[in-house]
Amino acid sequence: MQMSFYASYAHILQIPLFSTGRKAVAECTNCQEVLEEEYFTHDLTEVQQQVNAKTIVPPLHFIGLGIMVVAVLCFEIFY
Ligand SMILES: [Zn+2]
Repeated sequence: MQMSFYASYAHILQIPLFSTGRKAVAECTNCQEVLEEEYFTHDLTEVQQQVNAKTIVPPLHFIGLGIMVVAVLCFEIFY
């Protein structure tokens, strides 16, 4: 079994705005069958939770939100 994790985000013009969560899929290394996380066995769910606890959503996935906050702050300060 090989487990892969994906982080997705909402975006405008390819600029990430905010994270829309993480997903995990497990692929059998023998027959290449892919399991979505809603079909994980108890053991797979435990592994997924352990990895989730050790990893974070990439901060770059919030860069658009940061840009908007800075833009609003600049607007407030200069106008
Ligand atoms: Zn298999």
